[in-house]
Amino acid sequence: MKFIGAHVSAAGGVENAPLNAHAIGATAFAFFTKNQRQWASPPLSPASIALFRERCEQHGYGPGQVLPHDSYLINLGHPDREAVRKSRAAFLDELQRCEQLGLDRLNFHPGSTLKAIDDEDCLRRIAESINRGLEQTRGVCAVIENTAGQGSNLGHTFEQLAYIIERVDDKSRVGVCLDTCHTFAAGYDISTPTGFAEVIEHLDRIVGLSYLRGVHLNDAKKGLGSHVDRHESIGRGVLGLAPFKWLVKDPRLNAVPFILETPDETLWPEEIRLLKGLAG
Ligand SMILES: [Zn+2]
Ligand SMILES: [Zn+2]
Repeated sequence: MKFIGAHVSAAGGVENAPLNAHAIGATAFAFFTKNQRQWASPPLSPASIALFRERCEQHGYGPGQVLPHDSYLINLGHPDREAVRKSRAAFLDELQRCEQLGLDRLNFHPGSTLKAIDDEDCLRRIAESINRGLEQTRGVCAVIENTAGQGSNLGHTFEQLAYIIERVDDKSRVGVCLDTCHTFAAGYDISTPTGFAEVIEHLDRIVGLSYLRGVHLNDAKKGLGSHVDRHESIGRGVLGLAPFKWLVKDPRLNAVPFILETPDETLWPEEIRLLKGLAG
């Protein structure tokens, strides 16, 4: 059984996200719990929280089917002391919003060196940031997304993800999200049957599939190892349809939300129908 959906809009309030997901036939969804391009947002109102919970229940979305994404501004590995403090405070706020909404995971991009510190220093800062966030919250898992490695963004190798996880104190509350576009752009060839099998085995060996808490389904605009993060609609990019079929059919990847972040949202109902069909 696969939960398949998309990163839907929460415009007008988080309580609209489950409605938007239901309207496109999704059995999973992602959303932003606040404006993703601003540091500060007003707290979630009790009415908004209650309605979100009620609608999730009404439309059959359990916590394991919902994968909120944090703000793009946050850099948990920021080289600057004051800036990393600001990111940690914002990350804590995001974790607390998940707690309030009864959700059990928060998806985020690990962080960036900004070419001011070395990779290991940055990865250790990220782990420390996660530890601080987890210490102050309960029940929410920090889900590290693999990246395309654009600019000085870390998390583009499975070894880097493992390095962070190794340094997180509570292993039960840390996980990973595999983004197909980022994986390919980072240099992992999932477009051929042998390549796909090797990449998933590599992920299992280095990180462990037991840490998987979500999958982002995106075709890619740019080639293998491009390090360019440009999503494309399913089957219309350089990945083609095949890797998505292998992913949704893979019995090792059950019970995590599969989320589309493809650029043309008018195609989402069709893409979800297609993927559900491929999953069988
Ligand atoms: Zn992301
Ligand atoms: Zn993604």
